[in-house]
Amino acid sequence: MNLHDSERVSGLLGLCGCIEVASPDEADIVVFMTCCVREKADTHLYGQVSAMVSAPEPPSGRRIVCVGGCIAQRDGARIREHMRNVDVVFGTRALASLPELIADALEGGSKEVVADVSEDDPGFSTDLPSRREDAWHAWVPIMTGCNNFCSYCIVPYVRGRERSRRLEDVVAEVDRLRADGVREVCLLGQNVNSYGRNVYGHPRFAELLRAVGETGIERIRFTSSHPKDLSDETIAAMAETEAVMPQLHLAVQSGSTRVLKAMNRRYTREDFLSLASRIKHAMPGIALSTDIIVGFPGETEEDFEDTLSLVREVGFSSAFTFIYSKRSGTPAAKVDDPTPREVIQERFDRLAELVATLAHDANQEELGRTVEVLVEGPSKRDDDILVGHSRKNKTVHFPLPEGASAEGLVGKLVDVRVDEARTWYLRGPLVGDAR
Ligand code: SAM
Ligand code: SF4
Repeated sequence: MNLHDSERVSGLLGLCGCIEVASPDEADIVVFMTCCVREKADTHLYGQVSAMVSAPEPPSGRRIVCVGGCIAQRDGARIREHMRNVDVVFGTRALASLPELIADALEGGSKEVVADVSEDDPGFSTDLPSRREDAWHAWVPIMTGCNNFCSYCIVPYVRGRERSRRLEDVVAEVDRLRADGVREVCLLGQNVNSYGRNVYGHPRFAELLRAVGETGIERIRFTSSHPKDLSDETIAAMAETEAVMPQLHLAVQSGSTRVLKAMNRRYTREDFLSLASRIKHAMPGIALSTDIIVGFPGETEEDFEDTLSLVREVGFSSAFTFIYSKRSGTPAAKVDDPTPREVIQERFDRLAELVATLAHDANQEELGRTVEVLVEGPSKRDDDILVGHSRKNKTVHFPLPEGASAEGLVGKLVDVRVDEARTWYLRGPLVGDAR
């Protein structure tokens, strides 16, 4: 969601005649888009904004520093008071007014901080211009906010309640994107399974998937899916819509029913296992990935072992693993936890090892297969190796064929015969023609 918000900031400023430069040092306007889901991102922001004080003077002689997104929403007053080099603070609902806020800051001189961190609902503003980072891929927000209030999570407080776009607006946007050369869309929401509830009175995500599939877009992904709301109707729509990729990110958070209850996730370990088996039954070979929090207040060794056994039983092909980060204002932040930091770190390392083993095992199954890859560009280390993602969302590397140009292949679909399967990527030669 933050990546997409950044693309919208870029699109909005582009409409006002701004161009992107290579580094913040060269910029007249610097916009920090922030996230406060975990503490690490918080600390980064304060360091990076302060560092702008000693950055070289920009071409215009005056630099406008803007802080937007979740941290701006939460800490608006504090930023205005303590961060002297910030000119504009805009919250999660104020994205559309950024150009005006910048104009006000320019007019008002350097003394006044211009801020909009209002909590009023401005309606759904995702029809704003967006400058996409990649020509072939687009983020498509279908809803914003969250109603779930998981006890550890700050999102509902900084992004507000759930609001969905109208189904026909989403479909029309995907249609436009497809006509513009986009091959893969990722539908975005904090809980896509609840899509439509506030507009239509009941969720319509299954219907949306089928309708987006009918636009002719080649690849559809979506994130995030809350297990408590993933219906059999949606599983059927996924299985029956050719463009929906055989991959699903389904955050489990913990394998212990006791911890899940304390997290307010509203499903049990058994519910999750039964859901995972229904999904696998409907889509054999589907790649399941997840999010897991280690060290939630009060998590015991037994709870943690429940997580390890669930991860093993489901056989996730990858997972984002996080050490619990206390977010003040959330119910979990009020619970003291005597578990020593080293114990939590040791659990985290054990989980990371298991996740890597499972990822390695899942990749071995791809050996010898030919997989379809959407090409993204050269790898970071070697210009002659191209990188893309398979339908199951696995990273795939392949050598640039002799006589081919990397630019010519970017954004194309190719087939790669997998002859090497590492933990975090697959590799092999390109076979056949790009399309
Ligand atoms: N809405 C998504 C869902 O429920 O699947 C998750 C969105 S959240 C921004 C992404 C992930 O961050 C969560 O799934 C959770 O694992 C992690 N997360 C959220 N709050 C956290 C916290 N306080 N400490 C550690 N990890 C956290
Ligand atoms: Fe946070 Fe839970 Fe909402 Fe996801 S569903 S954004 S974890 S409150």
